[in-house]
Amino acid sequence: MASKEQNISCPADMEDIVHPRVLPFIMMHLACFGIIWVDVQPIDWIICGALYVIRMFGITAGFHRYFSHRSFKTSRVFQFLLAFLGQSSAQRGVLWWASKHRLHHKYSDTDQDLHSPVKHGFWYAHLLWIFAKPGRTADYSSIKDFQKYPELAWLEKRERVPPFLLGVLVWAVAGWSGLFVGFFLSTVLLFHGTFTINSLSHVYGKQSYVTGDHSRNNLFLAIITLGEGWHNNHHHFPSATPQGFHWWQIDITYYILKFLSIFRIVWDLRLPPAHVVAGIRKVSLSVVENAAEQLAASFSVEQIGKSLLNTWSHTPKLEELRKRARIGQSEVEKFLREVKIPELPAPADLKDKARNMFTHIPSLNPVVERAHQIIIQSISVWLVQEAMAR
Ligand SMILES: [Zn+2]
Ligand SMILES: [Zn+2]
Repeated sequence: MASKEQNISCPADMEDIVHPRVLPFIMMHLACFGIIWVDVQPIDWIICGALYVIRMFGITAGFHRYFSHRSFKTSRVFQFLLAFLGQSSAQRGVLWWASKHRLHHKYSDTDQDLHSPVKHGFWYAHLLWIFAKPGRTADYSSIKDFQKYPELAWLEKRERVPPFLLGVLVWAVAGWSGLFVGFFLSTVLLFHGTFTINSLSHVYGKQSYVTGDHSRNNLFLAIITLGEGWHNNHHHFPSATPQGFHWWQIDITYYILKFLSIFRIVWDLRLPPAHVVAGIRKVSLSVVENAAEQLAASFSVEQIGKSLLNTWSHTPKLEELRKRARIGQSEVEKFLREVKIPELPAPADLKDKARNMFTHIPSLNPVVERAHQIIIQSISVWLVQEAMAR
């Protein structure tokens, strides 16, 4: 559905992508080939897995649920530890990460969204945006609440210190094989595991809630990211600590935070209210509009248009269509409403499809009505172009 309307063109700043920042990123990938020349021990794989999970927690619980969304509270010491742990994953500074993520929620899947796969294509959303001009610098005005802590501002300026220290520690403990497998490979896996949330979780999965963007719920992504794959839930109610809203939606990050809350290391974990989980929140007009556009985009205008022209060829209807097309698009729209067109999806079909796409919206009628309008408008535009060209 979404893929049909994917616009794979990238922002103009894509040209600016060659930048010194790309080099360490590429080197980190190349360093993984060091595995070929060392004698890899089981302990190296254990370190690799452990550092993946522990640092993914730093990203999901720290960078995302705490610094970006303030979905729970903690002490100043643990706050710093979370930032340090997150930064040891070499995904830049905590303030950069959280400020970019706040903008993602503000502009999800619009042109201003820096990593929308729907707007900019898979590779741009997955990693290229980080190196393009708009992605490189942080917008600190959106993260003032944490920038005020001097220790965080200090850490932000030394973004490479935590991964460097971790790399040295792993090398000291487990030698070269430990460094290549336990540190470099684990860091690269962690990059791409995290990045799937930007690239894949806005394309593949189920949309349980109408959020006005393309966010999805995806079990596989939830497993490899310790719970972040319930991304549609998260866009529906970003300030909740858990992202799995049901017992079967595995959310390891939340289980760990819940455990830490027993010892008061973290507190005030915020649950989504029952009416939010049930999806009976009032849906805004812009959300209806976005959902209707998504629903309409799941039908191919070109296919319907071609089928119409085929059926109407050598009939007075085609002549009438041409006549109306010469007057303008609104006349064609009027004509499409006057004649019976079996090729057009009926409101009942639209409703069925909408029910599958958006399981938690209480009344689908406004979305269906608007989608029907959009389809008629798009087909009219297509027909006017075709009728004029013939
Ligand atoms: Zn998102
Ligand atoms: Zn978020």
